[in-house]
Amino acid sequence: MQIGRYHVIGEIGRGAMGVVYRAEDPAIGRTVAIKTIRLGDATTDQERDFLRDRLFREARSAGILSHPNIVTIYDVQEHDGVAYVFMEYVDGPSLEKVMSAAQPPDKKLVLHIFDQTAAALDYAHSKGIVHRDIKPANILLAHGENVKVTDFGIAKFTSHQATQSGVLLGTPSYMAPEQIAGKTVDGRADQFALAVITYQMLTGEKPFAGETLPSLMFKIVNEEPLPPQRLNPTLAAQAELVLRKALSKESSGRYAKCAEFARAVRTACESNPAWQPMRPGMVESLETVAATPLPSLRPEPATAIAPPSPAKPRRTPVWAILASFLFLGAGGFLTSRLLFTTDRNQPAPAPTPPPGGDDNKPSPMGPTPAPPTPEPTRPPDTAPAPTPAPTPAPTPPAPSPTPAPPKPPIGDQTIRIATSPPGAMIVIDGQQSLRCASPCEKTLPAGRHTLAADLKGHRLESRIFNLPPDRELLIMMERATGTLTVRSTPAGATIFINGQERREKTPAMFTLATGHYKIEIVREGVRKDYDVDIKDGVTSGIDVAWGPEN
Ligand code: ATP
Repeated sequence: MQIGRYHVIGEIGRGAMGVVYRAEDPAIGRTVAIKTIRLGDATTDQERDFLRDRLFREARSAGILSHPNIVTIYDVQEHDGVAYVFMEYVDGPSLEKVMSAAQPPDKKLVLHIFDQTAAALDYAHSKGIVHRDIKPANILLAHGENVKVTDFGIAKFTSHQATQSGVLLGTPSYMAPEQIAGKTVDGRADQFALAVITYQMLTGEKPFAGETLPSLMFKIVNEEPLPPQRLNPTLAAQAELVLRKALSKESSGRYAKCAEFARAVRTACESNPAWQPMRPGMVESLETVAATPLPSLRPEPATAIAPPSPAKPRRTPVWAILASFLFLGAGGFLTSRLLFTTDRNQPAPAPTPPPGGDDNKPSPMGPTPAPPTPEPTRPPDTAPAPTPAPTPAPTPPAPSPTPAPPKPPIGDQTIRIATSPPGAMIVIDGQQSLRCASPCEKTLPAGRHTLAADLKGHRLESRIFNLPPDRELLIMMERATGTLTVRSTPAGATIFINGQERREKTPAMFTLATGHYKIEIVREGVRKDYDVDIKDGVTSGIDVAWGPEN
């Protein structure tokens, strides 16, 4: 098979937007990777044109990046609704593959990966380019050891396209809170994503995990992860401080540069020469460990920290993620039925809140520490000391065959609300005092409630929900659009919308987002200008006639 002048050798893999091929450039004998992106998935012609322009613009700007740890983009072309991105071929696995291997990578390699990824990101940021989708699948390892960050520019494009067509690419597990909230982002959003990967490689667990997309988004925006040394006892408590800074909810709280973060991670890890990274699932086989909370982070005296509550497994079941994907993918169809209950498989939360704690508010970096227990000391240059076997938890009483006692009256319940895109103003029961910007949560009296979601450029959405059973609400915000028809006599005139020439000639019809547009219609060098306001659900028309003199 040929793509342009390239001879395709084989398929490397498939992503959400298309296939990646390995090919050879016969002119210079160079092996390249060709990524195909289906533009045809865009819903309208206008959207496709917009996406194509944007992809070319992004790829052009990413094309200026020349760094040993960044995949070089050689060229981008479009043919028959498919965009082809020609780029450097990387001979080696993605970090995603390496992370899912039976054994975690060597610890020297782990720190090397952080350093090189940080260097690549700082370089791109110095050129004004933010990746926006740093995740293990976008970090390739040439010959298993040299980082090559891929998808600069393209990732931003593909995730935009996916959002437009209502399909979610991957999970937002690596997204910074400001990205989820739809705010402007800078390089510190990439640093947040790198910190999520770092946390995952050091502990085997993602710092934020949710049963559903709304709860995942909520946790990223509002909650702090467990201290990493609770999941990996070979980590010094300093690792908590470093990760906590890079995972700050406000970008201003993070490191100025990714390399600064990577250096701090190295220092924290190496402060215990016996430290080891962990692979996913290792944490489950670990015994209870005691760790010293950082005095600067905790007002309480040094205490032993209770093991993670078994009532809250941190791994997101695959079914839940799939459900979220399907849910979003079928967004258009499901908008009228968007309530669902979570925690169906979850045991009830522990009945007693931690002493002195407010169980509605997350503690700064995990649950409130348990009462003091002496911490086992460990020589710095040896493997972690075996911890005393944990006291077995009291066995729960066997289920009783007698009828269940009457249920206690239901008190206040919490609902989590997320919108796609985020940032909508939510008003519950029409009360201004019950407002919040999505994603957010509200605690309300049990019973029936109403909700309105308002986001600029989108239709106002309203929902009715019941507490319980509803716990989470995901609302797909539909864009507000109107129709513009353009006719001319004679037909065949060229149309410009906001200065951009359209492929369609008169007569033509366009679906446009609401707002103000400058329309120019040109025939044989004669131009006519119009100002049009596109309103939601309304068709506006322009009809122009040229006389014999023009
Ligand atoms: P997503 O669609 O969410 O980005 P993805 O990153 O797995 O998912 P692609 O980027 O389309 O999907 O990649 C598909 C496969 O091609 C992956 O296995 C990836 O590692 C591989 N790949 C991508 N770019 C290159 C490259 N430049 N050199 C070698 N292999 C590559």
